[in-house]
Amino acid sequence: MIAAAFASTIPTIGGILAAMALVALIEVAMPLHARGRWNRFHLRPNLALTFLTFATNTFLNAALLATLLWLHAKHVGVLGMVTLPPLTAGVIGVLALDFSSYVAHVAMHKVPTFWRYHRVHHADPAVDVTTTIRQHPGESVIRYAFMAVFAFAFGVSPGAFAVYRLLSVLNGLLEHANIRMPLWLDNALSLVTTWPYTHKIHHSRIAAETNSNYGNIVSLFDRLFGTFTPSKRGVNVGYGLDGFDAPALQTTAGLLAIPFRQMTTIARIAGRPLATSCQARPASCEAYTAPSTATAT
Ligand SMILES: [Zn+2]
Ligand SMILES: [Zn+2]
Repeated sequence: MIAAAFASTIPTIGGILAAMALVALIEVAMPLHARGRWNRFHLRPNLALTFLTFATNTFLNAALLATLLWLHAKHVGVLGMVTLPPLTAGVIGVLALDFSSYVAHVAMHKVPTFWRYHRVHHADPAVDVTTTIRQHPGESVIRYAFMAVFAFAFGVSPGAFAVYRLLSVLNGLLEHANIRMPLWLDNALSLVTTWPYTHKIHHSRIAAETNSNYGNIVSLFDRLFGTFTPSKRGVNVGYGLDGFDAPALQTTAGLLAIPFRQMTTIARIAGRPLATSCQARPASCEAYTAPSTATAT
């Protein structure tokens, strides 16, 4: 099974890259924002982190899929204990995995250690299709850990897992794409999913917006748990994280180092003083969390 999972990696990555190229063409044809200097600057580091994520996820995916297959044969998990039509079980499995992604995402904003890794994704001063898989390898490990717990507990089938991964990456490309759409269409789509503008609110520099719209594929969980921000102003979001715009922090090496740097170091590289509260108690800023409680910019 692991060998089969690895064998499917090359065509899968090829398909994702082809989809990225197609979305990039649509971005040229109907852009939401004109391309700026950050769109040019972030291309190289974003693609480097994308390929690093492909490499990391290949191993994590194969391990999770092999375990799921073994557990599925033994009927382990909630879905393995009941008899449901395959389609119903598949839909529940996909929703369970999407809920795991919502929980993982909230955790990455609330737990300082996790946020250190996740802020690499948020620190992008421009959001377009190349932002989709710009993430630190540490974030991949966190996401797969949450996904494994939910997949094993629910007894998600390997087929549902494969469908979820496919939907997740396609949705990811669309929610980050710099594509203009009519507001009425966005409003209708936001009832179900996170693109085109719902996720863009999540990339805002404004704390209240950053800490909302955590949904991965469906907007259901944000609406259920009160973390949904209507996406109508998604056409006018200031992207990025204050304090992380220095070009030295935005290179591939700089981004990979972010989780391991203290806020005093990041502030020094950025050439910005720490916030007054941080100057009084620098240690309190080392566990710099999501912007709602950020003390350093
Ligand atoms: Zn986030
Ligand atoms: Zn994003």
